[in-house]
Amino acid sequence: MAIFNLHSIKIAHNKSTAGCIPKRMPAPESVVIPVSMHIGAPAVPVVKAGDTVKTGQLIASSGGYVSSPVYASISGKVKKIDDILLAGGNTVPAIVIESDGSNDIYSEIKAPVINSFEDFIKAVADSGVVGMGGAGFPTHVKLNVKDLSKIEFVIINCAECEAYITSDTRTMLDMTDEFFDGLSIIKQHIGDKRFIIGIEDNKKECIEKLKPYCASSGVELKVLPSTYPTGGEKVLVYKTTGRVIPEGKLPLDAGAVVLNCTTVVALQKYIRTGMPIVEKTVTVAGSAVKEPQNVIVPIGTRVKDLIEFCGGYKEEPKKILYGGPMMGISMPDDSCPVLKNTNAILAFNAKDATPSKQTECINCGRCVSHCPMNLMPAYIATAYAAKDAKRLEQLKVNICMECGCCSYVCPAKRPLVQTNKLSKALLKNYQMGAAKK
Ligand code: SF4
Ligand code: SF4
Repeated sequence: MAIFNLHSIKIAHNKSTAGCIPKRMPAPESVVIPVSMHIGAPAVPVVKAGDTVKTGQLIASSGGYVSSPVYASISGKVKKIDDILLAGGNTVPAIVIESDGSNDIYSEIKAPVINSFEDFIKAVADSGVVGMGGAGFPTHVKLNVKDLSKIEFVIINCAECEAYITSDTRTMLDMTDEFFDGLSIIKQHIGDKRFIIGIEDNKKECIEKLKPYCASSGVELKVLPSTYPTGGEKVLVYKTTGRVIPEGKLPLDAGAVVLNCTTVVALQKYIRTGMPIVEKTVTVAGSAVKEPQNVIVPIGTRVKDLIEFCGGYKEEPKKILYGGPMMGISMPDDSCPVLKNTNAILAFNAKDATPSKQTECINCGRCVSHCPMNLMPAYIATAYAAKDAKRLEQLKVNICMECGCCSYVCPAKRPLVQTNKLSKALLKNYQMGAAKK
């Protein structure tokens, strides 16, 4: 049985910043760079308070195989290493650097020498690049496939199906040469696989720009209907290849590796120049922002400094999100920093951020019929209310991709995706407890 279907929803795109060529933000007075901006072990600081650092200099080395190094995004002095609270409730150490105003580049920056597949994977790891479109999975882990014959497809995620976000759109339009150079580098090291770009049909300018590049490079361009969540990894693999990722497995189990287009460009930059990931293009938008736009911003820049660069707030923000309205995570306040995988910062006023009044479930079944993973969110909510972990296991809440379609279509305005997140945590604790017995 397929673990998902082609159910998807139409959402308002609100991509008014698509035409905004990113402006480069000057270095702020200070940046706050967490040592954990990825899935896996936190990086380990290699600097201490009082040290002088330059842009691109290593400040925290990889904490294990599934980890990623962290680099200074501005030049200046390390003020302190302190715990900060991130969205999602995690407290992580962060390195605070005060700018010296010079933005000097670290003198040791040079393109890596790559003579083998192992050298390539080391370079990808050293680049500090993690998945730019999602949870921040270290890219070197994804590409380090021992048996390369297992990879049949390299799927490039250009869907950008979330509302408001246009940073990938700008990558495709403004960095097209670098994007295709990045694809050629990957092809050189993993072999001649089928490279397929998956893009939604609402990005007409991008499609026209990419067509000649695809024609001359052998990369396939698959134009997909602009429905949400086309950019979800499992959905995209199915829509571009017809392959189903088995339940609880990875894209590689369906013969695919999935990379975001901005990830490819960040990788290309390191391999050609030696400059690791120290900045991000971020879409800043939402009803509380005075001048929505795309900004190239040093990693670790506080959101309040970024918003200030965008003219400040035009209204008191009630909610500020990392990411889009469907899958974004609310941050505690605007002192939170821009992370490696931040593609958007959205700030909404009270009118847009106040949840609608919730009513009783009317058993309409819309949440079920719109779930791409064939789950039953209404039943999951009942099991969660009863704290019935066994039932949650049966209902397979663990495979929920947190896309938010169920909440979006629910006429009773029930917070289904939020309940699913809590249910997943409950189930995880239950399974960990069972494993210890
Ligand atoms: S959030 Fe989870 S349960 Fe809801 S529609 Fe998406 S995958 Fe299905
Ligand atoms: S969509 Fe909402 S009202 Fe309808 S069955 Fe699901 S939870 Fe109940």
